[in-house]
Formats: sequence, C-alpha cells, structure tokens
Amino acid sequence: MKDLVKKFGNITAVSSVNIDVDSGEFMTLLGPSGCGKTTILSMILGILEPTSGSISFDGQVISQTPMNKRDVGMVFQNYALFPHMTVAQNVAFGLDMRKVPKEEKERRVKQVLEMVQLSDLAARFPKELSGGQQQRVALARALVIRPKVLLLDEPLSNLDAKLRKEMRIQLKRLHEEVGITTIYVTHDLEEALSLSTKVAVMSKGIVRQIGSPQEIFLQPKNHFVANFVGYGNFIHGKLKKEIDKYFVFEADKGFTLRVRKNGHHRVGDSVILTIKPENVKIVGEKEEGANCIKGKVLISDYVGSTTSYEILSEKGDILKVNVLGLEPLPQNHTINLYLAPESLLILDK
Ligand code: ADP
Ligand code: MG
Repeated sequence: MKDLVKKFGNITAVSSVNIDVDSGEFMTLLGPSGCGKTTILSMILGILEPTSGSISFDGQVISQTPMNKRDVGMVFQNYALFPHMTVAQNVAFGLDMRKVPKEEKERRVKQVLEMVQLSDLAARFPKELSGGQQQRVALARALVIRPKVLLLDEPLSNLDAKLRKEMRIQLKRLHEEVGITTIYVTHDLEEALSLSTKVAVMSKGIVRQIGSPQEIFLQPKNHFVANFVGYGNFIHGKLKKEIDKYFVFEADKGFTLRVRKNGHHRVGDSVILTIKPENVKIVGEKEEGANCIKGKVLISDYVGSTTSYEILSEKGDILKVNVLGLEPLPQNHTINLYLAPESLLILDK
C-alpha cells in the first residue's frame, strides 16, 4: 500500500497509509473502532476505490483491477453467509463465479471443508450452525478460491471468550499449514500479539507504528502506541544531562527522574517518560532519593489477584499503579513510589 488515502466527503478514513506485507506474512492492522481498518481491507478486496495512492501485488498495481480478477479472499466481520445455501454451496460460491468445472469444484470444496473440520456439516444451512461453525464456513469460502491474500476482518469478535481463544489457535495453525499471506484486522491487543508476524498500529486513519509483536509491545515509539499496549503513566519534561547509561529528566512540574537511555534521544530534547502501572513499585515510607515519588491513594480498585491504584503525587500528577496480591491500601493512605530507571521509556513528544 503506497500513500493510500480514502475520504468519505469531509471524513478522511484512511490517511496516507504505507504498508508492505511480505509473502507468507501474517500482518495485523490493530486499532480502535473507527480508525480505518475495514476501509483498508475493502480497498484491497476491491469493493472501495482509493481516493489516491495505490495498492500493488507482486509489483503490479491492482487498485483499478476488478474485484473478481484480484485473487483476494475475505472473511467479513458478520461472516455474510448466504442463508438460502448449504454449507457446501456457500463454500462453492467463489468457484461457481469463476466457472471452475464441476469435478474440480467438488474436490476443492471437500478439501477445504476438511481443512476447517466441517466435512460432516456440508449439507446444513447457516442457521443450523453455531457461531464458531459459521465462522469456519466463511473462512472455507474465502480459502477455496486459493487467494494470493486472505483478509480477515475481526473474525473472532462475534464469538464468546473461550471459543475466541480456541479459534485463535486454530487460525494460527491454519496459517502455519497453508502459509497464505494474511491481513488480519482487530482491536484486540492480545489477538494481534499472538497471531501476527507484523503489526501496524493505527489511530484516526494513520499508521502510528509498524513492527514485530515484540517491538510494538516492548518499544512503543509514541504516546498512542504506548497507551494502547498498556503504558498508563505519561510525564512531560526535558532531558537535562547524561550520566553514563542514564539521562537526568526534569519534569515540567519540577521534579527529576533518572531514566536509562533508549532510542535516539539527546540532552535538550523535550520528551514524555512513560511506565507501565505494573512496573511502579510501592516502597517503604522512609525511602528517599532518586526516582522516589510521594503521594496518596485516590482510588483503590481491588480485583482479587491485583489491586489498581490511582495515586495523587505531591506535585499533582496522577499515577496509575498495579500491585499483585497485597492487602489493598485505603483511600488517602500516604504512599511512596519507586520508578526504576530501567522501567521508564522515553517517547517523542
Ligand atoms: P474500523 O474498521 O477501524 O472500525 P472503518 O474503516 O469502518 O473503521 O471506518 C473508518 C472511518 O470512516 C469511520 O469514521 C467511519 O465512520 C468512516 N466511514 C466508513 N465507511 C464509510 C462510508 N461508507 N461513508 C462514510 N463514512 C464512512
Ligand atoms: Mg471495522
């Protein structure tokens, strides 16, 4: 996808998106509802035309090619099965459209139904199937045309939590077996991390970061991605000086923190420091010195295995802290926090 843009009137749904997907890759578009994920899939499938920019397969621009000549299979969020057709007829649909001879058609339908473990249900109608079974029919219908690219639009979001996890593992296995280039769409971080070889994190039509699941999770590059992967605390300020492996950071609110160097930052940069709530430590009240922040408990949310706190610091920042398995501290309790220099991450402002 090169400089891909889609506008609906005044709304820019997709804003200058550049994404390369390698052959055999499992690429996920990850982002909140409304960020443009389905619009991108629709342009790849060919049911929407880009406002500008282009889409290419193997170096050939296909954004003007008619849909049925693109070799793209898609599983829609609501599956979009034909209710009056049996499972086998639904799966055969794309082969009928492509005028595949009867014998070959039957062979391929049989093969793909085996792949998704639906052979026994070939004669049923969609309404006689569970949600998970319908989802597999939709998957079989997309795979039977042997597409160059498989598009999956939130395929697990209509399933209950337990089934979602099972289907996730099945999808992963299927991708490993078939090796088909896949573009997957989800708003679910765990799904994206578990399935993907590469993740593009999006918000408001813009790709905010592309990387491996580990890069996205451990080295978010900006506020949006950091927040999305669970960094809850953001402190604005400036890098003042370096002391071997560390920077001394001065917060706009006038306190200093040591932070381990990471990325490309230099003394003088205006930056945001971030830390995950589970990496903030509660320490003894007597402990003083570098990277300790005093405050008091505003909110304490006990959910059994962990307690989540919102702490109001002396300087007026609100810090989020998650603690494993302690007895919860009451409201207004004074508390001393330690933000380890290794747990802090520097983000561009
Ligand atoms: P996502 O799939 O990430 O939830 P979409 O791609 O469906 O997001 O939508 C992106 C933005 O484009 C949203 O603001 C949505 O309201 C808008 N949009 C999508 N399709 C249309 C359309 N046909 N007409 C007008 N606006 C649209
Ligand atoms: Mg969508």
